[in-house]
Amino acid sequence: MQTITTDVIIIGAGPCGLFTVFEAGLLKWHCHLIDYLPTPGGQCSEIYPKKPIYDIPGFPSVLAGELVDNLVKQGAPFHPTFSMGERAESMEKLDDGTFRVTTSRGTVVNGKTVFLAGGLGCFEPRKPSISNLAEFEDRGVEYIIKDPEFYRGKKVVIGGGGDSALDWTIVLADIASEVTLVHRSQMFRAAPDSVQKAQDLAAAGKITMCTDGQVTGLSGDGKLERVTLTFNDNTTRDQETDHYIPLFGLSPKLGPIANWGLGLEKNAVTVDPLTFMTNVEGVYAVGDISEYPNKLKLILCGFHEAAVALNVEYQRQNPEKKHVLKYTTVTGITELA
Ligand SMILES: Cc1cc2nc3c(=O)[nH]c(=O)nc-3n(C[C@H](O)[C@H](O)[C@H](O)COP(=O)(O)OP(=O)(O)OC[C@H]3O[C@@H](n4cnc5c(N)ncnc54)[C@H](O)[C@@H]3O)c2cc1C
Repeated sequence: MQTITTDVIIIGAGPCGLFTVFEAGLLKWHCHLIDYLPTPGGQCSEIYPKKPIYDIPGFPSVLAGELVDNLVKQGAPFHPTFSMGERAESMEKLDDGTFRVTTSRGTVVNGKTVFLAGGLGCFEPRKPSISNLAEFEDRGVEYIIKDPEFYRGKKVVIGGGGDSALDWTIVLADIASEVTLVHRSQMFRAAPDSVQKAQDLAAAGKITMCTDGQVTGLSGDGKLERVTLTFNDNTTRDQETDHYIPLFGLSPKLGPIANWGLGLEKNAVTVDPLTFMTNVEGVYAVGDISEYPNKLKLILCGFHEAAVALNVEYQRQNPEKKHVLKYTTVTGITELA
C-alpha cells in the first residue's frame, strides 16, 4: 500500500484536472492526480482525440489529443504525480482539516485540499451481451485500444458504428493483418468522412465491412480464436480472429463520489457559483462534474473554475495574507522542486 502526501489531491486527469495542476503550480502547490483511465485526458483522449475543438480561446482549432498533450506539457514544470488506472473510492476529512483519499488499489493520498475534476464520472465500457464475454476479457477481448501497435500483424474484429469504431478501423487498417468491422445496421453514427474512408478501404480490399450483423459468440482455447457472427436474416458464420474489440461507447458513472456526502444534482456535484466549493469546506468541483445555475459543460469554463477555486483555497489556507494576483508575463514560470 502506497501513501502519498501532496498539497492538492485532484480526482480526474481530464483537461480540467490537468489545468488545475498548472494553476496550483503558480501558487507553488504540488498536485497528485488520480484517474481510473490508464492515460490522462478524460473525454478528450477517450472519446474524440482526433477531433478538432474550435472553442478553446486562442486556438482557432486544436485536436483534442493535442490539447491534452499541451496541458500535460504546461503542467510539467510543477512535477505532478499520478495514480493512473485507479479509482478514488473514499474521501475523509481528518481532524486537522486535511483530507485523505483512498483508491481502488489501496493507494492513500493525503492533501490539504481536494479538487474533484471527475467529469461525468468513471468511464465504463458498454459491453455486448455475450454469455461467455468475461472469460475472454484481456484474452482477446478489449474495450479500449491503449496502443494500436499491440495489434500489429493480428486479425481484429471491431464492433460498433460510432466514431470510435470507425476511427480505429481506419487506423488499424494499416497495422493489423486483417480488420473486420461489424455493425448491426447499415446506418453509421460516425462522422460522414470517417464512414466514407472506411467504405473506401473496404472497396480497396483493405478491410471487411459486415453490416446488418453482430458478434454473438466467442470461442477459443484459453484465448480468443474465433467469433460467431449472426446477421439480421438469422444466418450465422464463424470467423477466425485474434481480437474482438467492441467499441459501443463508454458510459460514465459518477461512481463512489456520489457517496461522499456532497450535494448532488443532475448526476453532478453542486457548488457555490462564486467559489466552486462544495458543501465540504476545502473540497471543490471543477469542470463537467460541477453543477451551479447556468453551468456550461465546456472545457474553457472548467479552466476558469479551476483558477478561481485555487485562489479561493489559497485565501482560505492563508487568511492572514493578502493574496495579490500576479500575471505570468511578470512572474514567468518557477519550476517546483
Ligand atoms: C464528442 C465530444 C465532443 C466535445 N466537444 C467539445 C468542444 O468542442 N468544446 C468543449 O469545450 N467541450 C467539448 N466537449 C466536452 C468536453 O470534452 C468536456 O467538457 C471536458 O472533457 C470536461 O473535462 P473534465 O476534465 O471536467 O472531465 P473529463 O474529461 O470527463 O475527465 C474526467 C476524468 O475523471 C476520471 N474520474 C471520474 N471519477 C473518478 C474517480 N472516482 N476516480 C478516478 N478517476 C475518476 C475519469 O476517468 C476521467 O478521465 C465534448 C465532449 C464530447 C464527448
